Amino acid sequence: MCLHHRLTRRRALGAVLAAVGTALVRTRAIEAAGPYEGPFVDAHSHLKADLGPSIDELLGLYDRAGVRGVLLFGEPWPVAADARDRYPSRVVPFLAEGYANALHPHSSYVNPEGLDQLLAARVVHGLGEVILRHSPYQLGASGSYASAPANNVPADHPALIEAYRLAGRHGVPVNVHQEWFFSAELERALQAAPETTFVWAHAGHGEAGVVRPVLERNPNLLADLSARTPWIGPGTVLLQPNGALTPAWWALLHDHADRFVVGLDLFAPAHYQPAYVDQMVAYYRGLLGQLDLAVAALIGYANAERIAPFAAG
Ligand SMILES: [Zn+2]
Repeated sequence: MCLHHRLTRRRALGAVLAAVGTALVRTRAIEAAGPYEGPFVDAHSHLKADLGPSIDELLGLYDRAGVRGVLLFGEPWPVAADARDRYPSRVVPFLAEGYANALHPHSSYVNPEGLDQLLAARVVHGLGEVILRHSPYQLGASGSYASAPANNVPADHPALIEAYRLAGRHGVPVNVHQEWFFSAELERALQAAPETTFVWAHAGHGEAGVVRPVLERNPNLLADLSARTPWIGPGTVLLQPNGALTPAWWALLHDHADRFVVGLDLFAPAHYQPAYVDQMVAYYRGLLGQLDLAVAALIGYANAERIAPFAAG
């Protein structure tokens, strides 16, 4: 081997060692911080009549994982309303329509009189997850191999804007699924219903640099961090392979600590299992543990309880 090659190899080795060293330092810093151990509210999970589990089984999963309560997307809505009637201090019921049904003639979103009655009577305390622009997906075993084609409901459809405004009039939030590359359309909806609090599901699966200006332009928008884990798919993950939050996300979460919530996005049969729920909660507690404690507490539970409070009891 000539000297040139030896030097090149040594330099390459040096670079590798430096990178490993940096990763180790970050990993040690994360371990030193430890996971967030404060209260935790799941601000994004589904319960469907035809899928199970029962609300008792779901709360049993939460109890062992240390989850205080849930903003529960009931499909159909009586699933969530009944759950709240039994556990008012742990369930806030949201009204969800089926994946592709937001504009179906029978959808509550497009029947304002019925929707107004449900909201006025406090039968439900939120709308969503409203599935608007959704990419096609195919989950593996950890998602029960669930799949769906793309869904393309415009966020600013006039009938939906009326529903958002109704929710705002009754002081309840709307959780919307809209991929980030349709964020201009989302912003038109946010601006058409300025009195309504919206939660951008999964932060649109966008990068921090995409999410930041949308939040900063629209004070009525929060974002949830659900489905940003390795179990949902690459490209959506908030943590780097070494477990560290990316610097851009760390800065965004600190700059807008009152605008984010966490959620587990349980929706497929395989999700309602102790091992899955435990690892999801551990992932988010690890993420929150890297933030200042006051920021972690806002994102871990206090923001969710502010926009959709549990009944006292
Ligand atoms: Zn979603």
